[in-house]
Amino acid sequence: MNANVQRVLVSGAGIGGLAVAAGLARQGVQVDIVEARQDLTATGVGISLPNNALRMLKCLGVLDECLASGYVFDEYAMCDAAGETIVGMPLRASSDGVPGYLGIARARLAAILHTAATSAGAKLRLGVTIEEFTEDSQAALVRTSDGQEAEYDVVIGCEGLRSPLRARLFGAAAGPVFTGYSCWRTRTKRRVTAMTKYVGDATDAGLVPIDEDEMYLFHITAEPGNPYHEPQDWRDLLEARMAGYTGVVAEVRDNLPPASEIIYSPLFEVRLPRPWHTERAVLIGDAAHAVVPHLSQGGSQALEDAVVLTEELTRRPLAEALPAFMRRRFDRVQHIQQASSAVMIREMTTPPPVAADRANVSAELAREMAAVRAYLDQPV
Ligand SMILES: Cc1cc2nc3c(=O)[nH]c(=O)nc-3n(C[C@H](O)[C@H](O)[C@H](O)COP(=O)(O)OP(=O)(O)OC[C@H]3O[C@@H](n4cnc5c(N)ncnc54)[C@H](O)[C@@H]3O)c2cc1C
Repeated sequence: MNANVQRVLVSGAGIGGLAVAAGLARQGVQVDIVEARQDLTATGVGISLPNNALRMLKCLGVLDECLASGYVFDEYAMCDAAGETIVGMPLRASSDGVPGYLGIARARLAAILHTAATSAGAKLRLGVTIEEFTEDSQAALVRTSDGQEAEYDVVIGCEGLRSPLRARLFGAAAGPVFTGYSCWRTRTKRRVTAMTKYVGDATDAGLVPIDEDEMYLFHITAEPGNPYHEPQDWRDLLEARMAGYTGVVAEVRDNLPPASEIIYSPLFEVRLPRPWHTERAVLIGDAAHAVVPHLSQGGSQALEDAVVLTEELTRRPLAEALPAFMRRRFDRVQHIQQASSAVMIREMTTPPPVAADRANVSAELAREMAAVRAYLDQPV
């Protein structure tokens, strides 16, 4: 039994919440989870998880199950709008044998993390939120929307982009900032064997396999001013925005599913200054540091937070653990946010390379990817 933190409330059962609940419960900590949604099934399309995320899934004991449920790939290809390859790059496994990248259905990842958390003893209450939170040197006192009142050693806020706990602790000014770009996603029949990006004119499309049969499409577009688009129009709007592509992307565009199977996500960042904690509450994942998806790092960083926080909370007293968590996380997350944002801006503002420039573009991209990978390879 761990002698430090004994009783923890996790608010939010997304990637970060389920991962930290699994990590702590596996160490013998008593974990309650409250989740606002009534069920965990409607969790979007697919997700790409690079080696740094997969190493965290290994720490949580669920890597093999994730690998068996998704689609492992070891290459990234950048193509022009017609599907002709500009550059292909290996995504190598790490020296411990953990693969370079995995595509997996989000619902599958959620189910695996959910089982890991609850089978280790974490108790999940769906349709429940925190209504009152007070803290002092003895405990955090929480009243939840189902009328329960309980004391915890620490409350971990994993409520995502629009976290009410973040607003309660740090005010509304710490909230999400729109980047000017949005992402359209849908699932479709698999047509690629690796993550493949297609550079259009001021848009980017990508295809990621998530199992033998399926892949997901993502399509990034500039949406100045963050206009509201009616959900029933999402299919037609996406189709129109994909007009410039030929080849495999056009094939996907010409076979888009109904609007109800398309997800439209304006891209936001959260850059909460340090510390992300008070005496007895700490934020992880998107609640503290939402990042644009250009390096597949939002969920990956939530997983890193979960593993590092588990280590620190079970290694030392709370008053030392939370600052230690910040020391290990803040600079790394900031670096990754900046790198992700730089890739997004370059990709969205640079016209597709003409044939004569492709060797240069290819060399530059290889350098950029190698630098990112070297950074992500560092221990967390
Ligand atoms: C278009 C797009 C593509 C992306 N692609 C990738 C990718 O390929 N790879 C990657 O690593 N990341 C990707 N991400 C980022 C990734 O989805 C997020 O970073 C990740 O989901 C964050 O996990 P989280 O647990 O912090 O938050 P979330 O997964 O958002 O979970 C938050 C949970 O909290 C619940 N909640 C909210 N409010 C409350 C409340 N008051 N009380 C209780 N529960 C509450 C929510 O219902 C939800 O279940 C992408 C993001 C976008 C927008």
